[in-house]
Amino acid sequence: MGPQLRGTTLRWSDVEALAGLVRARGLQQLVRILARRGHGDYPFLWGDEVEYMLVSFDHVARRARLLFNAEELANDLTAMDEEANPGHPSRWHLEFSSYMVEGIPAQPYGGSMAELTSVETSMRLRRRDVLARLHANETICSLTTFPRLGCPGFSQPEFVPQHRDGIFTSLFLPDEAIVGHARFTALARNLRERRGEKIVVNVPIFRDRNTPSPFIDKIPDGDEEAAIAMKADHIYMDTMGFGAGNCCLQVTMQAKNIEEARHIYDQLALLCPIMMALSAAAPFYRGLVSDVDCRWSINSVACDDRTRQERGLEPLTTCKWRIPKLRFDSIESFLSPGGAKFNDLELPKDEDVYLQLLDAGIDPLLARHFAHLFLRDPLVILWEKIYADDDENEDYHFECIQATNWKTLRLKPPPPNTNIGWRVEFRPMDVQLTDFENAAYVVFVVLLTRVIVSYGLNFLVPLSKIDQNIRKAQKRNAVLDEMFYFRKDIQAEMDAPPADGTESEVGILMSIDTIINGKVGVFQGLVPIVYSFLEDMEVDVETRCTISHYLELISKRASGELGTTAQRLRAFVSGHPDYAHDSVISERVNYDLLLRCDALARARPHGHGTDPLHELSHGACQTG
Ligand code: ADP
Ligand code: MG
Ligand code: MG
Ligand code: MG
Repeated sequence: MGPQLRGTTLRWSDVEALAGLVRARGLQQLVRILARRGHGDYPFLWGDEVEYMLVSFDHVARRARLLFNAEELANDLTAMDEEANPGHPSRWHLEFSSYMVEGIPAQPYGGSMAELTSVETSMRLRRRDVLARLHANETICSLTTFPRLGCPGFSQPEFVPQHRDGIFTSLFLPDEAIVGHARFTALARNLRERRGEKIVVNVPIFRDRNTPSPFIDKIPDGDEEAAIAMKADHIYMDTMGFGAGNCCLQVTMQAKNIEEARHIYDQLALLCPIMMALSAAAPFYRGLVSDVDCRWSINSVACDDRTRQERGLEPLTTCKWRIPKLRFDSIESFLSPGGAKFNDLELPKDEDVYLQLLDAGIDPLLARHFAHLFLRDPLVILWEKIYADDDENEDYHFECIQATNWKTLRLKPPPPNTNIGWRVEFRPMDVQLTDFENAAYVVFVVLLTRVIVSYGLNFLVPLSKIDQNIRKAQKRNAVLDEMFYFRKDIQAEMDAPPADGTESEVGILMSIDTIINGKVGVFQGLVPIVYSFLEDMEVDVETRCTISHYLELISKRASGELGTTAQRLRAFVSGHPDYAHDSVISERVNYDLLLRCDALARARPHGHGTDPLHELSHGACQTG
């Protein structure tokens, strides 16, 4: 959730003046956390986070709009959650947008195999809790992007964008789309002010048979700034809200100790692009069909607070460094000793922070990771916390830096004065429409992590190859059309020299089908490896049956037998009688699509003996 929410937020000019102080105190806190790191033997615990959007239907006008009442709903839900009612199954958080909420299980799940089946029940209860508080024409939808976000009249109630003097200064999104919470308002304003100019996101348009060529996006009022910023054949967006307003699915896992956490972090880096492509669920932006399938790069560019100097567009005069990676980006370095030789990316870092961490006895690999995170300024600071004097028990200043570094993975240190250990958060996935699918993706990531630790598997390839994979993973139809660098000899010892060739040659191009399902003579496949792990474990019949349904979904999506959510959403739009094959998603198409998504998500839970995949088939989606 990031640092504490309540208090007085500061404007960017004040944050900038205090950034050095926050960094210095954050570093002291980090050094204390690392000194206390303990070599404890923490249990394997894990939990998911699902982000949802609230939608209101007008069945007469046949419109679906985003419902701006997350705050009221979250207050209501929080009054019911674990803190207020021990034993209640879920917890709720506000997110960036006034139509978003995030639900997590009240308590993390434990390491037993049977608990793998709890997550779907928990997700279903969360959905039920929200639905019970909404009106009949309203719903909660685990859809990654709202297809008509930023189109005229996309919200309920409607607001006019404050283009000239607002927080977003957007032509499309009103400031009311930011949840009323001071932290998020300050985040949006300070991010833009730090950058020094408006956000520019250009997403390639999907070229359908009636799409004009060239495609020139329509800009309200012939705005001059927009006319310069936008590109032909692209969808133009102009604020952070187009990224931070998208929903995702995350998994956090607790490791035995810091060493195991670093190992898991590195190994999961290879899975980030693969799971990104398999979870692809975000083909539509601002009422248009795009040529990308995932939200990742849109969030990344929409949250880019780097100045022109940091972006390399102007010589460095007032800024300290160029920063090639964005705040919202893939990871910048491997952290385990075995990963060091694969760190082939340029890694700017705060040299002072680096040296101080080395002085404090932190090893260079970990020191450079944190010194890289410390390149970023804090964006939100609460006035009441700046000088508050309780560093022994606090991680507030450290979290001001850490929580706004939005990477594909996050190494989460133990919070002071808790019995929580080192955790790794897996963050690249788009959210899926149904609880069954979300549970399947979460369980697959958790099981693979267990396998990696138990079998000591080694997936590492040079980090630059993972970045190439991340770029490919977001392309339209990536699961079927792209080839990804993956390691063949995953049983190799971490410090063994490569079997053939140099380190940079480790990793061959494979399809996602080969990576997930295996191919004789090439690679054994991640799903077969998980199955053999299950053979070695004591798993009751019911649990095994549920898990095999999850694995079947992953396996069939990888082979193309079942479409990804993005493919299915595209197929629905393309087959809709109202769609003119011009890349435009009309009110009517949007309405029917949201109705269909809602029906899928509300479908009766699957009993034993039924095939949960049936409902997810292409055919079922296209009938909406
Ligand atoms: P953030 O938004 O910072 O990632 P959240 O509180 O929203 O944090 O989500 C934390 C996730 O971590 C939840 O899924 C929760 O169940 C899980 N979790 C909480 N404690 C632990 C723990 N000790 N080990 C592993 N996972 C945990
Ligand atoms: Mg969260
Ligand atoms: Mg979240
Ligand atoms: Mg999270």
